[in-house]
Amino acid sequence: MEDASYAATLAFNTADLDWHHAIIAEFGAHHGIDARYDGRGRGEIGSPLREAHDRRGAARLAWDRARPAACDLFTLPDLTCRKCDRQNPGVYLAPVVMDGSGTCICMDCAAARGWLDKSGNLLPGVTL
Ligand SMILES: [Zn+2]
Repeated sequence: MEDASYAATLAFNTADLDWHHAIIAEFGAHHGIDARYDGRGRGEIGSPLREAHDRRGAARLAWDRARPAACDLFTLPDLTCRKCDRQNPGVYLAPVVMDGSGTCICMDCAAARGWLDKSGNLLPGVTL
């Protein structure tokens, strides 16, 4: 079972890389990441890009079937913001987790304290 799962993982990685190369060939390295996530990466029906996309999708399904319980095994920790005590903020910084629960800084608190740049990235020099 483990070997089948490993083979399916490799097959998916290979198909994903093939699709990645097809996207780069179509949109260029600079726009490849956008095209991957905004739907253009699916390509036109009958195009090499669409074929690579569909092969990747099939490999992904096979991978899921080979390890059906994988997503059930992964439990997110309970996180509490160290500044405002908010429970499990969807976006957070600096998680500290022990034994399945822990603390973090929620993005609202980080933004309120001026720790983020315009893109929402942590400014240099801020320690949490
Ligand atoms: Zn907070």
